[in-house]
Amino acid sequence: MKVRYQYRIYPTPGQQSKLARLFGCCRVVWNDALALIKSIPKGEKWPSNTELQKLCITHAKQTKERHWLAEVSNIPLQQSIRDLAAALKNFFESRKGKQVGFPRFKKKTNEQSARFTRGGFAIKGKKVYLAKIGEVKTKWSRPLPSEPSSVTVIKDCAGRYFLSFVVEIEPVHIEPKNQGVGVDLGLETLATLSTGEKVKAPDTSALDRKIRKGKRKLARAVKGSKRRERLRMAIARMESKQRHIRKDFNQKLATRLVRDNSVVVLEDLNVSGMMKNRQLARAIRRAGWRQIRTMCEAKGKMIADREVRVINRWEPTSQVCSCCGYRWGKLDLSIRSVVCLNCGAEHDRDENASKNIEAAGRCRPEWANAKQCKTSMEAVACLPTHQEPAECWQTGNPRP
Ligand SMILES: [Zn+2]
Repeated sequence: MKVRYQYRIYPTPGQQSKLARLFGCCRVVWNDALALIKSIPKGEKWPSNTELQKLCITHAKQTKERHWLAEVSNIPLQQSIRDLAAALKNFFESRKGKQVGFPRFKKKTNEQSARFTRGGFAIKGKKVYLAKIGEVKTKWSRPLPSEPSSVTVIKDCAGRYFLSFVVEIEPVHIEPKNQGVGVDLGLETLATLSTGEKVKAPDTSALDRKIRKGKRKLARAVKGSKRRERLRMAIARMESKQRHIRKDFNQKLATRLVRDNSVVVLEDLNVSGMMKNRQLARAIRRAGWRQIRTMCEAKGKMIADREVRVINRWEPTSQVCSCCGYRWGKLDLSIRSVVCLNCGAEHDRDENASKNIEAAGRCRPEWANAKQCKTSMEAVACLPTHQEPAECWQTGNPRP
């Protein structure tokens, strides 16, 4: 499978200005090609990849407005067109299932990138050679697992440079410690595991306050002023720091979950629905539930014999006793712990849910039975005829 390995690089001031020119050229080629495609009336055939390359690169170089395209390496420019073609293909193929947006114009203030394929770059000892840029000082934080097929140079909004290699890896074999784990994602405790472990998210609220204060200042700053630009950079740096703290944390959590368990069960959360609650939106965005899921799924493929399952969001995981399967019905969010009316077991709300998520994801028969049970009143009414198992199916202990 293909994965990305990213490293920080430290280009010299000369290389930085060369890179700035390269990023600009790639952006112009992308935007020109996209504008060309958008200008074609409905029903008419779109130009092919080669035709686009001819029009937006080869021919453009001979014009007065775009002659400077000749000053940079041709490889990233061609790649720009190829990436656009791929983005369009993704858009058209996604129309049935998952939604992918139509490609957008690139902006100067966003993250900048240029992609080199074979022939455009080479690894020379501790440095990486990039065509028409030179040898760039690279921080090798870990060794590359195999020869990369392409490399993307990235400059983020905070002005830092990275190389992102695409490499081929084989799934590794690691013995799992446990059979399976259910994960209940939340805000106050980021993740509650069915083993009873609670994972708290790193606190970045101080940084968050600083960012919001900076943004209020930015809104008042004069447009186009140097002060505004400095402020924008400072905010971008803080935001990327916050993003990195969270990403690093989620990355480590996902690695641990996938490495230690042969089956990881997550819940499909209705994130966009919950985001409508404006008071919670920021906290939900920061928590990155979707990010954890994506990371688990990606890491699941990197280790042999691992499975990441996602259960339906309508499974009543917080409405059922994880000990005996008794269904008590909906609980208000403020209720943090429950005593089961049927077996008398006391549950922490999140822990109970995570145990149910695990049971549902691994298709335990007990879960199918519990779901059949009617809610609240009816369940109470049918109690006397409800046959109780002699022991708890979760712990194996005899019932009180
Ligand atoms: Zn119970």
